Amino acid sequence: MSKMWSLKLTLTVATTLTISAIRANTDNFSISFNSPEVSPHAAERIKSQIKVVVSKLPPKMMGRIGGNISIQFKKMDEKNQLDVYNICEAGPHILAYTRPLSSHPTIVINDAFLALFNGFDTVSPIPCSHKDLYQKFQSLIIHELSHIYEARAPLTESEKSELQNCQIFRQESTMPDPRCEYLQSLNRFVSSRISFQKLSRARKNALSTRSPDPYELRSPEENFAVNMEYFILDPEFRCRRPAYYKF
Ligand SMILES: [Zn+2]
Repeated sequence: MSKMWSLKLTLTVATTLTISAIRANTDNFSISFNSPEVSPHAAERIKSQIKVVVSKLPPKMMGRIGGNISIQFKKMDEKNQLDVYNICEAGPHILAYTRPLSSHPTIVINDAFLALFNGFDTVSPIPCSHKDLYQKFQSLIIHELSHIYEARAPLTESEKSELQNCQIFRQESTMPDPRCEYLQSLNRFVSSRISFQKLSRARKNALSTRSPDPYELRSPEENFAVNMEYFILDPEFRCRRPAYYKF
């Protein structure tokens, strides 16, 4: 039988995590963790890390994602198993993934991270990307949630009415309109917005030496997800990247 728990933003969680009433309107957002192979002790510790993530997520993000997101662990490296305690020198490994366009997305995390929860409960600082291994674990969840959030980004009211005009225009004309095509693409991704791309480091390779995670230079989507990790986890983000913070 599988052990299943669900973290909902109910009153109980709100008291233990001091989540204010502002987040009550996002109570349809939940994260569930379903992993029969994980010991109850490790599962408790994973749950508390997920709770930390949920307590840090912007309410707008949870509201837009809505519904339930499940988290699973999976063996990802058959030959060259990742050693999380050596993650900064480990070379390329898939750490986590999701299918953001699925109606019930699952965040799949490399099971090498279970080592953090099976051993002693010690904070291990790391010299790359995030502060320590617990934060690195939290960042994986935030990164994948950002992809899901992106995939659900709705249009603003004025963009919606413009898009309606586009549909009328399309019936009257056979010529494609670049603005209409752009608006149609916005239905999906925040990072496809021109305003975000102007900001995006993906276009500014010259700055790559200052990047905390070069993965952000891969595409606008990765740039968005990596910056969300730091936006949520790093209190100094506002000073280091004020333009992103405002976005
Ligand atoms: Zn990604």
